[in-house]
Amino acid sequence: MRVMVTGGAGFIGSALVRALLDGKRAAVAVIDSMTYAASPQTLAACRQRPDFTFYQCDICDVDAMRAAFAEFKPDAVVHLAAESHVDRSIDRPAKFVETNVVGTQVLLDAALAYWRNMPAAEQSAFRFIHVSTDEVYGALGETGAFTETTAYDPRSPYSASKAASDHLASAWHHTYGFPTIVTNCSNNYGPYQFPEKLIPLMILRGLAGREMPVYGQGRNVRDWLYVGDHAEALWLVLNSGRPGETYLIGGESERRNIDVVNTIAALLDEFAPQNAPHSRFIQFVDDRPGHDHRYAIDPSKIKRELGWKAKTPFELGLRQTVQWYLNNRSWWEPILHDTYRLERFGTAS
Ligand code: NAD
Repeated sequence: MRVMVTGGAGFIGSALVRALLDGKRAAVAVIDSMTYAASPQTLAACRQRPDFTFYQCDICDVDAMRAAFAEFKPDAVVHLAAESHVDRSIDRPAKFVETNVVGTQVLLDAALAYWRNMPAAEQSAFRFIHVSTDEVYGALGETGAFTETTAYDPRSPYSASKAASDHLASAWHHTYGFPTIVTNCSNNYGPYQFPEKLIPLMILRGLAGREMPVYGQGRNVRDWLYVGDHAEALWLVLNSGRPGETYLIGGESERRNIDVVNTIAALLDEFAPQNAPHSRFIQFVDDRPGHDHRYAIDPSKIKRELGWKAKTPFELGLRQTVQWYLNNRSWWEPILHDTYRLERFGTAS
């Protein structure tokens, strides 16, 4: 199989690329414009492989997308390229509409034009997987979980742009018969996550003996999914998912933010005891504007239809993640030096 992965130099995209290449499951072409969120180091080990191709280009660039399809000739596309940080979307919503909405439309158009010219047998096997978020469904109260039939109710510029792109992917199926599948997943964590996101941010700030800022009272709940488990789910969707369908992918690991941060502080005490106790760095700060209270996914459909289940218990995955950041300074130190100083965005002030 030849798989085109957009956003393949990012966090989840690179985990998928490793899962495809290491398992010798597919030849891969990554499409990535290398925004602030991508590090050249992330895919360094793949660069020499003959089954790996890299296109540094923007999904909004019509000509570049058409050329990449014509040259690589994929059997499938997994679309992950996006602006992905809610806080940044509060400050710069236009960028999110441009990449997540317009970029998805440009990519769908290029993919459709390519697909229409494929031989019939290859055309029927082709798949376009659009990777999205559970945040499109809005916020839950103390109980319940999102399913594939939950009504859309996006509430941040980020989730609104992702919701729009989900609808575009579905519309290309209904209107043109193009074989799209939408996946919506819960919060991912694991190696190579850009340090602006909660878990790496808390690890790196705690490690440096800096304040570990928790929004509001830390009572917001997220349903954590280990990125390697997500990559396996995407591989199953690619092979056995039904065009026109949506699959929700969740780790069934709901945790309050404050509990996640306390666990990170305890893991830092264990692995980097010089600043212990790290819990003294935890500070409650002003909440994110419009902060959704709780997300949770009911993954029954993907379990039942595709036989997928998250394998990594949250406490084990978090332990491995803290260890990975401690052992891979050469990955994150250049980011902190060149791109991102662990500061906060999106206060709407
Ligand atoms: P990320 O920010 O780590 O990576 C995004 C990648 O897309 C980067 O490599 C970036 O350079 C690339 N990119 C951005 N704009 C581009 C453009 N215009 N053209 C080409 N490449 C571009 O994001 P992630 O966390 O890996 O998320 C991947 C996908 O999964 C996104 O679509 C996101 O909405 C979705 N998602 C993420 C999570 C999560 O917890 N991380 C949860 C649910 C859904």
